[in-house]
Amino acid sequence: MAELLEVSQVGNPILRQVAQPIDRLNEPIQALINTLMATLLHSNGVGIAAPQVAASYRLFIIASRPNLRYPYAPKMEPTVMINPSLISHSEERVKDWEGCLSVPGIRGLVPRYRTIAVEYCDRQGKLHEQPLTDFVARIFQHELDHLNGIVFLDRLETNLEIVTEQEYLKQMAIGHSAD
Ligand code: ZN
Repeated sequence: MAELLEVSQVGNPILRQVAQPIDRLNEPIQALINTLMATLLHSNGVGIAAPQVAASYRLFIIASRPNLRYPYAPKMEPTVMINPSLISHSEERVKDWEGCLSVPGIRGLVPRYRTIAVEYCDRQGKLHEQPLTDFVARIFQHELDHLNGIVFLDRLETNLEIVTEQEYLKQMAIGHSAD
């Protein structure tokens, strides 16, 4: 089993750097992908970007699945995205709650494009182009921001749209028991 890495927290300058493109899928990069995957699965996250484990490369993993932190997330296979880019997006943006392994204990209401088209390489170097919508599109935009030194707090429209994780889960429970 791959070792786990400590997740950098906001305040660490590595989270504010623009990460460098990956030009060769060599052994150290493959090892980094394995460690990133293990760290993500261990942490109840739905995505993780290399700068969050202090590796400033354009690489992230999206792994939407229901868990304690995101009980209503859709389930998908973990997808490794290397040198990802956003090719196009809908005009429509939607606001929803986001958290971040690098900003523990906090959620914020973040506007994101509802539908996007993206491009990335997989770990074999094959280029993929695909549309993403809703929650998965949101994760992509959140992780892409990490590669550009941006965290979700920077995207908030107002500080009034910040809650603690504890308060968020309390309000979610109330919201869903009313259904
Ligand atoms: Zn994050």
